[in-house]
Amino acid sequence: MSQDNTRQTRAVRAAVHSDTQHGAVMPPLYLTSNFAFEGLGKAGAYDYTRTANPTRDALANALTELEGGAGATVTASGMAAIHLACQLLNPGDLVVGPRDCYGGTFRLLTQCAQRGLFRVELIDQADVAALDAVIAQEPRLLWVESPTNPLMRVIDLAALSQRAKTAGALMAVDNTFLSPALQRPLALGADLVVHSTTKYLNGHSDMVGGAVIAGTPELAEQLAYWGNAVGLTGSPFDAFLTLRGIRTLYARMRQHEENALALAELLAGHPAVTRVHYPGLPSHPDHALAKRQQSGFGGMLSFELTSGEAGVRALLEAIELYTLAESLGGVESLICHPASMSHATFDAASLAAAGIGAGLLRISVGIESTDDLVRDLARGLDAAG
Ligand code: PLP
Repeated sequence: MSQDNTRQTRAVRAAVHSDTQHGAVMPPLYLTSNFAFEGLGKAGAYDYTRTANPTRDALANALTELEGGAGATVTASGMAAIHLACQLLNPGDLVVGPRDCYGGTFRLLTQCAQRGLFRVELIDQADVAALDAVIAQEPRLLWVESPTNPLMRVIDLAALSQRAKTAGALMAVDNTFLSPALQRPLALGADLVVHSTTKYLNGHSDMVGGAVIAGTPELAEQLAYWGNAVGLTGSPFDAFLTLRGIRTLYARMRQHEENALALAELLAGHPAVTRVHYPGLPSHPDHALAKRQQSGFGGMLSFELTSGEAGVRALLEAIELYTLAESLGGVESLICHPASMSHATFDAASLAAAGIGAGLLRISVGIESTDDLVRDLARGLDAAG
């Protein structure tokens, strides 16, 4: 598709009218494990779905275009995507990650390090002194989440990528929270972008998937090789759903953000709340950076209740429109208690170091009516009192 078209248009039209056999407007779903050879020693364009599949390729091409990359491998989950990126590491290599990263990432990195597959240092990546200290150890990979999960700190990706380049390290950004509609890390100097497509890209909480998008053809080739070799690639059916999801990505992200801002303002003015973590609020410490680096603030926020865990329980009992569940990025609003849910893999010391307390709640703000969401959360906050 012409590069003149905006990314929004390319998301809507990804692989539309690409079926040369019947002229199907929407790309067909190839539910097959294997493809017939044309003759002995003559494979066609595809031979086996673990290696490549036309439906998964259509999604990989769309994600490559949206992130501005050189190629993508679509995986069976976000964790499979993170594991795939780790295939680029050798024993002894140092990975530097954020202290308040997603709990599954924390588990994978720390447990792999414990088995000696590579070394890991988790730091506050906004802390320049801490960063200097690890950069001096010549890391192989800087792992970045921005905004961080669940505390919504924003990392200066362009500045960090400069430091990664100077140190000879690769930089990978988990872009799950914002999606390419709101942030494009490759344009800011990252080498790899990772997604849990389970979240905003698919957007309907009805599949689990992931992807790694590479900034160079060489990295893309290595990822495709390991994706096939380890068998991390995703199912064609999930790729079909995700491709359908990304057609509405830009429209959904606008509504997620409109609702999130309304809720953040409600939270900021409520006496039951000590802190609101939403970079869209001018009072957020990273507001200016987020404004510069992102094309929107997204639909994720978290907040701390004055009344701690007792307040959390009271709030959860009073609300109706927020489902208590893990995950994020679907059209429906979800509420999560990070300390006991998404970050339950953290030990007590790591929770404290990351600043995740018992009174912290995270909301994945859906696209329901703004007024309904505000009214319901206000009821919960009053109950948490
Ligand atoms: N990265 C982030 C930021 C996440 O929030 C998650 C899951 O919640 C993952 C990665 C892992 O993705 P998945 O659950 O699709 O394996």
